[in-house]
Amino acid sequence: MASNELDWAGLAFGYVPTDYNVRCSFRDGAWGPIEETTDVTIPVHIAATCLHYGQEIFEGLKAFRGKDGKIRIFRLEENARRIADSARGLLMEPVPEELFREMVIRAVKLNERFVPPYGSGASLYIRPLEIGMTAQVGVKSAKEYTFIVFVSPVGPYFKEGFKPTNLCITREFDRAAPKGTGRWKVGGNYAASLQAGAKAHALGYSAVLYLDPREKKYIDECGPANFFAIKDGKYITPASESILPSITNKSFMQLARDMGMEVEQRHIELEELETVSEAAACGTAAVASPVGEVHDLDTGHKYVILPDGQVGPVVTELYNRLRGIQLGELPDVYGWNTVLD
Ligand SMILES: *Cc1c(COP(=O)(O)O)cnc(C)c1O
Repeated sequence: MASNELDWAGLAFGYVPTDYNVRCSFRDGAWGPIEETTDVTIPVHIAATCLHYGQEIFEGLKAFRGKDGKIRIFRLEENARRIADSARGLLMEPVPEELFREMVIRAVKLNERFVPPYGSGASLYIRPLEIGMTAQVGVKSAKEYTFIVFVSPVGPYFKEGFKPTNLCITREFDRAAPKGTGRWKVGGNYAASLQAGAKAHALGYSAVLYLDPREKKYIDECGPANFFAIKDGKYITPASESILPSITNKSFMQLARDMGMEVEQRHIELEELETVSEAAACGTAAVASPVGEVHDLDTGHKYVILPDGQVGPVVTELYNRLRGIQLGELPDVYGWNTVLD
């Protein structure tokens, strides 16, 4: 489809075909040349480790068309570091930061016509992924890897405005184990979360608020997003060995400090939800998704965070500041954006 026929604001968070993707393979101990291709399939050996033993990791970041017409990629270096951490976690070959950077920039530039216009609320979602390619049936890490970057335009997350949604708690499923793979961005964690997510959606909730897998006492993650809350004017967010360190959360912690707030990364007991004034899920897709109520499906208890259903001032301010930096409307004092020329 011609990009000028796309209804940017109406796009879902889904896959829209673009012109090119870029790839690079690790073989014989070295990363090869970067390939640009229009092919959207990959030849994979039937015995490859990615198919049998879950050697698959990925990232998610976004590019925006700014107020000045320039394209900005948000926190590219942080995503590069995180995918290398994920690689080490699954004994995969880490993609060098410079290669990650070059391939992400190239994927965006080659598909420049799919970067939504400023003001549409849409953005270009960038999906880097790495898979183990070696054919082997024995359980061990691959010797060969393929790293791919593709992009897809995505519409605004809040189509009906910035509104709170409700979460549910269920002790029936964990998405990760205490010393497991929760802290890395691996496809397997998502597989482990599908049943719980489907249950939450069927009951009308936007996501499951997971409790820590060891004691089921503390708040862990919020579906595929981190959780934070505002309590007595402080920004609080869980410290946990099973959550994925969200770059959006990290950015909010800095912005909260800039707003003069104290930031606490610590255990948050479920019952503490009674005492918070605001809460939100955060991640690249939504930036911040305000939480109205949390319903404990096992005890029937309802934690009402926003009694009037109105998004609170702190979550609104954090959201606006982050969006403003991404869109080049506010000064990027920390150099979070990679501005393309
Ligand atoms: C990607 C992801 C997040 C959000 O991370 P961001 O860097 O903010 O996009 C949070 N939790 C999980 C489990 C994730 O996979």
